[in-house]
Amino acid sequence: MSLSLYNKKRNFKNTPEPFKGAKRSSSKKIFVVQRHDASHLHYDFRLEVDGVLKSWAVPKGPSMNPRDKRLAVMVEDHPLGYAKFHGTIPKGNYGAGTVEIWDNGVYEPVENNGSADKEVNKEIKEGSLKFILHGKKLKGSFALVRLKDADEKNWLLIKHKDEFSNDEETNDKGKIPSSSKKKLKPDQLKDQPDS
Ligand code: MN
Repeated sequence: MSLSLYNKKRNFKNTPEPFKGAKRSSSKKIFVVQRHDASHLHYDFRLEVDGVLKSWAVPKGPSMNPRDKRLAVMVEDHPLGYAKFHGTIPKGNYGAGTVEIWDNGVYEPVENNGSADKEVNKEIKEGSLKFILHGKKLKGSFALVRLKDADEKNWLLIKHKDEFSNDEETNDKGKIPSSSKKKLKPDQLKDQPDS
């Protein structure tokens, strides 16, 4: 898919969002999650595929708890350069509100027969994508599964049970309790500043 829909929705004279994608030569694929406080707070989950960012809007945000199956609505592809975007989209523009980078890193598909792009494109077409995230908050194995309803845009973002998953309750404020906290010994906990 091209970026025509992305470009069409925006007036680049009035928004600081990037117009062109940055070229990347690295073989590692990036992902980013942007907390987007627009008319409705949501989290934009983006995966680099074939030189663009495949994008899903996740109203409640990603979770590290495998029991949370988070609705993820597929939206238009975004340019690669969008992965670095944070700031304010002025009133009156598409998606007006603030964008902050909530998490980022690299990812890889679980299956890979030579070309990650080919594999991820194929799995997106089939409606079932399995991948490993190497982020600061999001780590380990995840799946995006397309719902078999009338609207082809609705997917679920699901954490697989692994060494990074947890059973903590999270909410739509995006507060994912750090799993690293659990691993601290009691004497280390004492030294943690109140936050
Ligand atoms: Mn958004």
